[in-house]
Amino acid sequence: MKEVTLKINGVSVTVPAGTKILDAAKKAGFNIPTLCYLKDICNDGSCRICVVEVKGQKKLITACSATVKDEMEVFTSTPKVIAARKTTLELMLSNHNKNCLSCARSTNCELQKLSLEYGCDTKAFQGAVTKSRVDENDYLVRDNSKCILCRRCVAVCNKIQTVGVIGANNRGFASEIGCAFEKKLDNTSCIACGQCINVCPTGALHEKDDTAKVIAAIEDPEKYVIFGTAPSVRVALAEEFGYPIGTDAEGKMVSAIKRVGADKVFDVNMAADMTIMEEGTELLARLKDKTAALPMITSCSPGWIRFIEFYYPELLPHLSSCKSPQQMFGAIMKTYYAEKFNIDPKKIYVVSVMPCVAKKTEILRDDEAAAGVPDVDVVLTTRELARLIKAKSIDFAALPNEEFDNPIGQGTTAGLIFGATGGVMEAALRTVADVLTGENLEKIDYKAVRGTAGIKEAKVKIAGNEIKVCVAHTMANARKILEDIKAGKCDYHFIEIMTCPGGCVNGGGQPIVPSYISNNVDVKALRAKAIYDKDKKSGLRKSHENPVVKALYEEYFDHPNSHKAHHILHTTYHKREKY
Ligand code: SF4
Ligand code: SF4
Ligand code: SF4
Repeated sequence: MKEVTLKINGVSVTVPAGTKILDAAKKAGFNIPTLCYLKDICNDGSCRICVVEVKGQKKLITACSATVKDEMEVFTSTPKVIAARKTTLELMLSNHNKNCLSCARSTNCELQKLSLEYGCDTKAFQGAVTKSRVDENDYLVRDNSKCILCRRCVAVCNKIQTVGVIGANNRGFASEIGCAFEKKLDNTSCIACGQCINVCPTGALHEKDDTAKVIAAIEDPEKYVIFGTAPSVRVALAEEFGYPIGTDAEGKMVSAIKRVGADKVFDVNMAADMTIMEEGTELLARLKDKTAALPMITSCSPGWIRFIEFYYPELLPHLSSCKSPQQMFGAIMKTYYAEKFNIDPKKIYVVSVMPCVAKKTEILRDDEAAAGVPDVDVVLTTRELARLIKAKSIDFAALPNEEFDNPIGQGTTAGLIFGATGGVMEAALRTVADVLTGENLEKIDYKAVRGTAGIKEAKVKIAGNEIKVCVAHTMANARKILEDIKAGKCDYHFIEIMTCPGGCVNGGGQPIVPSYISNNVDVKALRAKAIYDKDKKSGLRKSHENPVVKALYEEYFDHPNSHKAHHILHTTYHKREKY
């Protein structure tokens, strides 16, 4: 490959031809600030914060979009560059609702950080401000008074999710990001993934905050409040308290929730194990039934469910009928647990702590109320749980490690690995392999389905049967697989699809890692590593070996896919009109 040698601030650096100045500067040891740039997703130079001076050129150029040239001399922080960046920031601030003190992103806002670093005067430019709107629904708030028009959200919605429901409306001073014909987001085919929130550099996007509902339930003596925490929350929550990315804080998380005031704290890993029992059994039945729709596709990721309902309703028969682990968890609490401990299901208040924004929409779906009341009452994202812990003045660093409550708290690490792309598939294979061979197999690491590749395929030989599987994450990758199914080019038996890049570890409700870190570090891989490290050390790695799962079938459900299990643990899907 042709190489180019140039100088950045007098430091000579050699990089492959075609490299952007931004990356060459990094190699030379200089960080150039950015606001719109997102590695591999957004690099059209629209924010103009990354401007640099090039010897012999009058105009400043944008380092994220300009490529290196041989013998180029670049200067990243001359007085002219600094002044230009400061003016750009001050112009942004002149049209910005600067209520930093109570903003959801305060202390983790890229605009706030740069304004501080460049010593910006927030009143440098005063005058008219764009008339902006707040679009709020059951899962997401878009507050355009804090939008800097960087278009990262637009890029992620278009390129990563291929959904494209947001874009720039109007021209010039009236420009704003929104939906076509100024529709509200929940009147479009938005899949509620929340990935736009995670890439937003400011407080313009955040999840609908439901912490007040949880506090009210805890304060209500009539309510029996049960928290359930999803697999990937424990490997991300600590980041909100200053711990490194990929810290496993399961014990502190449980301890914090008990101090928040929960009556019980259970592990949704247990419900993930139940999903494997139900889904694995469903797969085995479909493999035997020549008329059943194959490939079967997983149904635990609600953004994905919205995607297929909006965009590929003709393929709905391929979905497993299993409820997601969140909904199985709530349903088990309000049926089995309520009966066993003689508690009125109407009094049980299930708080589901999820890495996900779409889960807030899942609880509102039809056919998710096994006991005649909603399976789950409220969903908090990992970020909201952190907010709740802080609001209760709990000293996270000083917390001891505590265990989930019994009798239903125990999950396996087959349930835990649901948090990373490929995890549901691997957990399913561990159980299906034991069932088909009738043995307790020791070789249970299915490494072909691990890792962050967008689409992974594997052929697995089990008891003389060859099972072809596929794993995909993001809707851009899901779309490729679905088009293959439609074209009859797909001979997989089982497919796992997750909405978010990397799976739930990188869900739309996880702690937001600012771009100056996420552009250089693979956040999803670090969080996934914490999950697989835990799995490696675990003594309980197969869902069907979970004693809680065994007890649930013995005492209540009889066997997987029984009539009762179908009524309580399975659901239905429907076509949605696309807007
Ligand atoms: S988005 Fe950033 S700069 Fe704007 S109010 Fe929030 S914290 Fe302050
Ligand atoms: S939630 Fe997902 S689908 Fe909806 S606008 Fe944001 S990125 Fe697009
Ligand atoms: S909402 Fe956020 S990500 Fe989208 S354009 Fe505005 S500032 Fe950028």
